[in-house]
Amino acid sequence: MSRIVYVNGAYVPEEEAKVSVFDRGFLFADGVYEVTSVLEGRLLDFEGHMRRLRRSLAELDMAAPASDEELLEIHRELVRRNGVEEGLVYLQVTRGAADRDFVYPAGVAPTLVMFTQEKQIVESPAAERGIRVISIPDERWGRRDIKTVQLLYPSMGKMMAKAAGADDAWMVEEGFVTEGTSNNAYIVKGGRIITRHLGNEILHGITRAAVLRLAREAQMEVEERPFTIEEAQGADEAFITSATTFVQPVVAIDDVEIGGGRPGPIARRLREIYVEEARRNAV
Ligand code: PLP
Repeated sequence: MSRIVYVNGAYVPEEEAKVSVFDRGFLFADGVYEVTSVLEGRLLDFEGHMRRLRRSLAELDMAAPASDEELLEIHRELVRRNGVEEGLVYLQVTRGAADRDFVYPAGVAPTLVMFTQEKQIVESPAAERGIRVISIPDERWGRRDIKTVQLLYPSMGKMMAKAAGADDAWMVEEGFVTEGTSNNAYIVKGGRIITRHLGNEILHGITRAAVLRLAREAQMEVEERPFTIEEAQGADEAFITSATTFVQPVVAIDDVEIGGGRPGPIARRLREIYVEEARRNAV
């Protein structure tokens, strides 16, 4: 059975879903997106994702396609129609379709596309065994705080990791780790959790915000500052966060094993408390 997807006001089978060849998302990567996880048929951190979507749209002077309430309704309807118990809802807004011109067109309706994807996220072999990352230079544009659909460099990064026999890549700029290709990066030293501070250099992860809040509530020490690959290789633990991976331990960086090559207790604990709270607050 094919999926039902949402395109500009209509729920249609995926084979029938269409977007114009003049869509600026296609021609200019002039679009933003969000990925919200689904657990037991409910949405995790929905408000946070909508808040970030509003911010991405505002930074690009892009019109909002619908209110938060309408977007919640569409998310729920897609989850319901596709019978998704565990997985994600992908949402993309573009500036819309117009004659090709670098100048933003006026009076064009934004394009809104949403679809679901089933995925096992709680039971995760990668979280059990931990992932291996390589370091690569961060060659993305300068506004990584806006969640745009221009994901080619992160995609190249994943391929570089794969070619090196690793699972993912951490990107490095001016000697310091910015983040993972599709996740935020952390190390743990002497019980203290260290992760890069917010700025234009990284995406402001919704999972990051939740995990840091939960860590502080659990009396763990958190330090938001840049760190180097060398510091990470000498850390007790390392991990990543994102909406669809939650907290996932990192057990090797450029083939140097972290914490004896096994997931550490802090990453494990944070994953547990994140999943508990996410389940409690799902909508
Ligand atoms: N950093 C980057 C570059 C990402 O692409 C993502 C998620 O897609 C994240 C961080 C994690 O953000 P979130 O926790 O909101 O999924």
